[in-house]
Amino acid sequence: MLFKKAISLFLCFCLCVLPSVSCNYSAGEKTKEPQTQARSYYEFFDTVSVIFSYLGDPEEEFAGNCNAVSELLGEYHKLFDIYYEYSGINNIKTINKNAGISPVEVDEKLIDFLTYCKELYAITDGRTNVAMGSVLKLWHDCREEAEEDISAARIPSEDALTEAAKHCDIDSLIIDKAAGTVYISDPDMSLDVGAVGKGYATEKAARLLIDRGVTSYVLNIGGNIRAIGEKVTGSGWVTGITNPNKLSSESFVCKVSIKDVSLVTSGDYERYYTVDGVKYHHIIDPDTLMPADYFTSVSVFTPDSGFADALSTALFCMSYEDGRALAESLGNVEVIWVDKEYNVKHTGGVVFAE
Ligand code: ADP
Ligand code: MG
Repeated sequence: MLFKKAISLFLCFCLCVLPSVSCNYSAGEKTKEPQTQARSYYEFFDTVSVIFSYLGDPEEEFAGNCNAVSELLGEYHKLFDIYYEYSGINNIKTINKNAGISPVEVDEKLIDFLTYCKELYAITDGRTNVAMGSVLKLWHDCREEAEEDISAARIPSEDALTEAAKHCDIDSLIIDKAAGTVYISDPDMSLDVGAVGKGYATEKAARLLIDRGVTSYVLNIGGNIRAIGEKVTGSGWVTGITNPNKLSSESFVCKVSIKDVSLVTSGDYERYYTVDGVKYHHIIDPDTLMPADYFTSVSVFTPDSGFADALSTALFCMSYEDGRALAESLGNVEVIWVDKEYNVKHTGGVVFAE
C-alpha cells in the first residue's frame, strides 16, 4: 500500500514536472535548460526516493551527490525504524523495547530529532504526537489484518483505544542530551515517528546537497518534495496537488509552482482499509482516537521538509479555522486544504501555475 502511494506520488511529480523541464528552452527565456538527471532508490522508508538534478552537472558529480544522499537516507531509515533493529546502532525500536526498563544510548542525530519532535508537539498543540505509538499500533494491526483477510476487517475496540490513549504522554519521553540517552518512562508507551521522520530526513538530505554546492535539484522522497533553488531559467517547478476524488477525470485539484520550498501532503485517499463500507485511513486524530475526519488532503508549503511533514499531519487533524490560524501564526507557511466534498481552500501566498 505504502509503496503504491509512493509510486503514484512519484508519477504525479514526474508527469507534472518532467515535461516542463525536458525541453531545452522555455518560451521567452534565453537560458538553456540542461537535460534533467534522475536517480531512484527503493530501500528507504518503505517508499520510492528520487533525486532530480536540473543543473546538468557532470555524471561523476551527480553520482557523488546521489551517493551522499543515499548514505544519509540509509542512516536515518535505520535510526527511525520502529519494526527492526540493526547491528551496531540503537534506534527507535531499541528505545521502545526499553520503555520502563532503562535509558538507551543513541546517536546524537536521534537526540536532535526527538528533541525536535517534542517542539513539534508543542507547536501543533499535540496534534502531531510521536508518543502515540500505542494507539497507532492498534490501527496499524487492524489495517494489516484487513489486508491479509478482507472478511476479518475490523476497527480497534473503543476500550482498547481508550486504554492505549492513557500511554501517549510526550512528557514520558525523557531526553538526556548530556548523557546522550533517551528513555520512555511509561512501560506501555511507544514512539511512532511516521508523521515526521521521512520529511526530517529529506531536509537533512537537502542541507547536505546545499553544502555540496547544489543550486537546482529536487528531492522526492515518497511524495515529500523538497525543491532546492529554482530552474536555471529562474522559474519554479510546476507540480500538481493530487485530486483525491477518484471519480473525477482531473488528476489534480490545482497546479503549483515551487522554488526553494518543501511541499508535503497528508491525505486519506491512499492508505486506508474498509469495514462495512466505511473507509478508515492512517492519520489518527488524538482527540477522537479515530481517523481524522476534517479533510481528504492537506498540503503544506514551507522551506523545511521536516516541519512541512509534521505540519501536514497536524493540520489534517484540526479544523480549517484552527489550521488557518496556526499556519498564519507561523509565517512562511502556505497551505492547500481539500475538504471532504473536494472544495479547495488555501492561504494567500500559494503560487499557482497553469
Ligand atoms: P504519510 O506517512 O502518508 O506521508 P503523514 O506524514 O501524515 O502521512 O504520517 C502518517 C503516519 O504518521 C501514520 O502512518 C502513523 O504512523 C503516524 N501518525 C498518524 N497520526 C498521527 C498523529 N496524530 N500524530 C503523530 N503521528 C501520527
Ligand atoms: Mg506528516
